[in-house]
Order: sequence, then structure tokens, then C-alpha cells
Amino acid sequence: MGSETPQGSESGGRPAIAGGEPLFPCKVPILKPDIPPLDPLLGDLRSVIASGMLTNGPKVQKFERTIAEFLGVREVVAVSSCTAGLMLTFRALGLRGEVVLPSFTFHATGSALLWNNLIPVFADCDPDTFCIDPQRVEENITERTAGILAVHMYGHPAKARELEELARKYSLPLIFDAAHAFGARYHGVPVGGFGCAEVFSLSPTKLITSAEGGLVATNDPKLAKLMRAGRNYGDPGTYDPELLGLNARMSELHATLGLHTFNRIQENVQARNMIRLRYEKGFSSLPGLSFQKIHSWAQSTCKDFSVLVDPEPFGMSRDLLCDALAAENVETKKYFYPPLHRQKQFSPYYRPQVDPLVVTDKISSRVLSFPIYSALSVADVDGICEAVKGIQGYVSKLSVEEHGHLLARASLAVAR
Ligand SMILES: *Cc1c(COP(=O)(O)O)cnc(C)c1O
Repeated sequence: MGSETPQGSESGGRPAIAGGEPLFPCKVPILKPDIPPLDPLLGDLRSVIASGMLTNGPKVQKFERTIAEFLGVREVVAVSSCTAGLMLTFRALGLRGEVVLPSFTFHATGSALLWNNLIPVFADCDPDTFCIDPQRVEENITERTAGILAVHMYGHPAKARELEELARKYSLPLIFDAAHAFGARYHGVPVGGFGCAEVFSLSPTKLITSAEGGLVATNDPKLAKLMRAGRNYGDPGTYDPELLGLNARMSELHATLGLHTFNRIQENVQARNMIRLRYEKGFSSLPGLSFQKIHSWAQSTCKDFSVLVDPEPFGMSRDLLCDALAAENVETKKYFYPPLHRQKQFSPYYRPQVDPLVVTDKISSRVLSFPIYSALSVADVDGICEAVKGIQGYVSKLSVEEHGHLLARASLAVAR
């Protein structure tokens, strides 16, 4: 992609935020969906449309069977989104009371609980993998606890066996928000079969996509049956709903797209892991940057590549780095900031005296997620690493006063 090739430093190494030329002439987006070859896809879509069967048809069934086989689970129920899948899972389980979940996650994880009048109880995450810490989960369990909801952060599996053990010990259902984790493995076993259900997202920000969609994987046929009713207004086909449902069906067109993107999952996971390693190597010489630890037992999907910026040794804040990269035409995001317990919807449930969420606050205030997708070139990854080095080198040499000027300039640029 010539248009995105870094331009080098004609401006004497001055970063764009300090008035230099942007390193990238065109914006490098944080994500690009992995689009399958168009001709076969369009052929399939054409025959679906010509068949007149646009929903409740064979493509969704085929998609569900294909995924169930790939994951090694008994049942997969395709739904309209991961959020709807989580909402319906908790509805189908009929839980009441509190559910222990991480605060370091996307807000939809917690919304699924609020939609079911369940009370979110936030447990801190582990500083290595950024996933919920089983020990913190146990500390948050009381007689009011009705379930555990874990997240495979950025596609790194949560500690599934430890969590399953806790779930058994306290007789609690364990559900995974597996939005990031399609293609992940835990000790070689595909993520998807742990707990009583794992819910994947197929939105375009994730590795396989049906434009919009979700997949609920479970080894419990009774739960699967309720989920099939749940996505269909709660109606199992009797015109007499079994539960309060939604219309959360996946259309035949979406399932067709999902099947085509699924074909590319292995390459996609591999490409993202290569990119992650290249970033880690590129950033290794810089002080104050650290990464999510990928355990030897884990295959991560690298849905995101996130860096923690420790402002003292790095010489600047995460926020200033974000603004400086934006000036270089590199898009980054703060996944996930603010954490749930600092958001309007969830802050009333934060109980600092029980779990102060120290690790969550620390990670969340330092995290910055970089562009990662299978089509991102090595040259662009290297260019982004150079951009960070250039910015850090420049900023770390500024006087306190000059640093202040730069901050003012950055906030003006952001306000514009
Ligand atoms: C993307 C995401 C969701 C929501 O998925 P949708 O399919 O868009 O509903 C839920 N949880 C996490 C952790 C996510 O990243």
C-alpha cells in the first residue's frame, strides 16, 4: 500500500504534533475487516437471495454446524450480535442476584446483566493477561452471587480451568464473553466449550465477521434449545413463548458472509500474532512500555494489540502519545478506558471497600491499542514503531515548559 508508506523524517525528526510532517500521508486505521474473496461470496449471496429464503434457512444451519465442529462443542446458536447472545443467555439461565465480572472490558459485557436486572459485581483483573483474576472472583463471591461472567481479553483466554473449578465449588453458572476470542486456544483446546456458554461476536471489529452477528456455543442441549426460542421472540414454535425473548435471529445473508470469513480464520490469527511480535520487538528498546503477557498455554487471536504506557520512564502520558500518533496519521484507541466501574451506567455498583480494582485502574489509565489486522503491512508496523520512537525521543528531551506547550497544543488539536 504505497499511499500509506511512511515518508521518513524530512522535517528533521520533529514529530507532526510539534509541527513536522506526518509520517504517514494517509491515515492508518486501527482495524480493517478481513474481507474474503468477493466473487465466490457474491455468487453465494446471489443464490441465497434468488432462493427467497432470507431467514430461518439452511445457511444459518450450515454455519452453526460448521462452527460447532470447528470448536468441538455440541451446539452453536447463531444470533444477531454478541450483546443479544449474552442478554439471552442470562435470560435463559433465569438468574437473579449478582454476577461477578471484570470491570476491564467493553461495556456491552455489563449491559447484558443490567438488561436482566442482574447486579454487576466487579472483580479485578490479573496484571499479566488483563483477564479476570480467579482469586479476585472468589473474594467477591457471597450468598447473593448468581453467576460468573469472564472475558477472554483481546483474545487471550481467561484462566478457564480455575474459573470452572470455582463455578463447581460454589455451584454457579460460568459464562464467557468470548467476543474477542474466536480462534483462540487454551492448552490447545479451542475456546468455545468452557463454562456453560461462550458467546462470540461477529461484528466487523472482530476476526470473523458476518457484518453483524454473534454465536453462542454450549455443550448443554437444554440451554441451546432455550436460546433458539429466545432469539425467536422466546417462541419455540408454539406461539406460546417460553421466555422473554428478542428477535435476535441471524439472517441467511449474514450467515453466508460469516461462512466465508470463517474460512480465513487460521491465517488471520497467524498474521495478527506475527504483527504483535513485530510490534513487541520494535518497541523493546523503549523505556516504560509493556505488553499483555501471552502465556505458553495460550493461543491468542490478538484481536487487539495494546501497550501500557508508564508515563514516568516513558517521558510522556498515554494520552499525549495517542494525540501525537493521531498527528502522524496513526489511529489508536484506548481499549478499554474508562473501565466499567468509572462509567455512568456502572459506577453505582462499584464497591471499592470490597474490591478497589487497583489493577484495572492502572491498566485502563495506561492502555493504548495499535492498528492490527491481517492486511497491515510489515512496513507499516515498522513505520508505526519508528513514529513512537521519534515521538518519545523528541518529547523526552523537552524542558518542563516545552512539554507544557506541547500538551496545550495537543489539547487544542483534539478540540478541533
Ligand atoms: C465487541 C464486543 C461485544 C459486543 O459485540 P456485538 O457483537 O457488537 O454485540 C461484547 N463484549 C466485548 C468484550 C466486545 O469487545
